[in-house]
Parts: sequence; C-alpha cells; structure tokens
Amino acid sequence: MTPAEVVARAPAKVNVHLAVGPLRADGFHELRTVYFAVSLFDTVTVGPGEGLAVSVTGVDAGVVPTDRRNLVWRAAVLLAEHAGVRHDATIGIAKAIPAAAGLAGGSADAAAALVALDAFWGTRVGRADLDLLAAQLGSDVPFSLLGGVALGSGRGEQLSPVLAPTRRHWVLGMAGEGLSTPAVYGELDRLRAAGRLPGDSGLGSADPVIAALRSGPPAALAGALANDLQTPALALRPELGRALRAATDAGALAALVSGSGPTVAALVEDESSAIRLAAELAGVGIFRTLRAVHGPVPGARLVG
Ligand code: ATP
Repeated sequence: MTPAEVVARAPAKVNVHLAVGPLRADGFHELRTVYFAVSLFDTVTVGPGEGLAVSVTGVDAGVVPTDRRNLVWRAAVLLAEHAGVRHDATIGIAKAIPAAAGLAGGSADAAAALVALDAFWGTRVGRADLDLLAAQLGSDVPFSLLGGVALGSGRGEQLSPVLAPTRRHWVLGMAGEGLSTPAVYGELDRLRAAGRLPGDSGLGSADPVIAALRSGPPAALAGALANDLQTPALALRPELGRALRAATDAGALAALVSGSGPTVAALVEDESSAIRLAAELAGVGIFRTLRAVHGPVPGARLVG
C-alpha cells in the first residue's frame, strides 16, 4: 500500500577543511575536503500526485525554483528512471537552510528527497545505488546522505567517514545575499592565474583537522580550520572580512567561510557560548540569519 505521506530531513554542512586543486578536464576542480554535518535541517514531505509538483516554504523560499531546476525535481526524475517507476509525487520542501549560502541546502533537499521518495514509491534501491544517484545530482549530495563527518575527494563525492566522537558547537551567520558557487571558483582561478594566490600544485593536507576532530579540544580544531575558497569569497564580498572579525572579536575560537560562502561558521567552546555569540552577533547588524548549531549529526533520514 502506498503511504499517505513520507517525511525526511537532511542537514546542512560546513567544510572544516577545503583544499582546491587543479581544474579537471570535466570542468570540476579536484578537491580534498572534510565535511561536517550540523543541526540545521531542511524537511522534505512527499505525498501522492500525478506527475511532479514541487513547492518550497521557509527561509529563502522566494529564490528557490520550484520547477525542473530544483535539485529535488531532478532527484525525483533520476530515482524514478533508475527504478522504472512513474515520477508521480507532490513534494514540499520546508527550508531552514539558507539558499546559496555554502551550506549545501539544495544538496540536503535532494538527499532527503531520495530517501523519502524511495520509501514512498517502495523502490528500495539500496544504499549503494542511492549513493550513485546522489553523486549524479551534485558533488555534495552523497555527503548529505551520509552525514556525520567525512573526507571528500574527487570533486567531493568520494567519501570516507572520519572519526569525530566529540560534539562541536558553532554559530552560522549569513552575511548578505547568496553567492554563486561557480563564481567563487572562477575568482579562485583568476587570483591564481594572476599570481595573487599560490598555485594549485598540491592539495593541502587534511591530517591536522582530522587529528583535531578525533581527539583535540575545541582550540585545536580552531587552529586546523582551512578553506581555499575563503580568499576568493572575500574578494567578491569584502564585508565577509568584517563578518569574520566580528565573530572572533565577540569570542569565537575561530571563524571561517563555509564552502563557497557567504555563511561564516564560528567555532565556540560549548552550547552556552554558541547561544551567547549568536545573540551578540545579532546586535552587530552584519548577519541576515544567525543560528547556534552543533554536530556532527546524521545524514538524510526518514522522520516519524
Ligand atoms: P554548496 O555549498 O553545495 O555549493 P550552496 O549551499 O551554496 O551549495 P544551495 O543552497 O544548494 O547552495 O543552492 C544553490 C543554487 O541552487 C540556488 O541558487 C538555487 O537556485 C539552486 N537550487 C536548486 N534546488 C534548490 C533547493 N532545493 N534549495 C536551494 N537551492 C536550490
């Protein structure tokens, strides 16, 4: 029997390490990244329908497409084709993750949709196939399925889990409107070609951050955070520099741009520090959204 409704949710991520290597022939950059899933979730609800219908509510709903450009739409078509079923469903996306923020919100929605639709259609494609479909949808989608903490290589889609037994606390602050991921990579290429940033001869090692995640105190993790996309994001959005300084001035152990930005992820000692920092940054007037979060948390899961 077809269930009346299936609900799944998936988390946002921050990249605690993001090293960008050379541009590959397929147009993607070679990456070495450490993804970290945090407690900010989008929720996807699937119900009966004829054909596909996608609606979006919540944060940034106005800027997220509801047609075939939505990653959830593409996830539905891909899963239906793979499993040989009709793509009949009504899909509601409730967004808590800001769009184009460097938090992989669209990828979270696609991962949650794969999990929800697989249950709703009874397609039971299995984990390995879901991972393959996820990788076809986007570089970050496999991690949105997996969650926790993972080392990503290739264009980020080849994952190996990283041991991270300690809960870490962050404040996520989004400064200004969304930034386009391709634009930030383009700026990185431009700065490298102009000799204003070191070349891409080697991918920075993730070992220090992996060691700090395994057993270090928050201060050790703070010292190991790194993101090659931070300088180009700052070049495109200079006020991000002010946002990073505001976070450290207000007591964050460290702050970095998450992924391609413009979200600033500020690492703090504990939960009460996170709540205090979020409240203090709200008074600074730079951030359009501020959230105290923790992680690691699991990837896309059915709810209820
Ligand atoms: P990443 O960190 O993976 O580079 P991001 O967090 O910066 O991604 P997303 O929120 O995933 O960015 O959105 C990037 C663009 O993708 C948006 O500008 C939007 O037009 C498009 N998009 C397609 N589907 C979705 C979706 N379900 N939610 C948000 N954006 C979507």
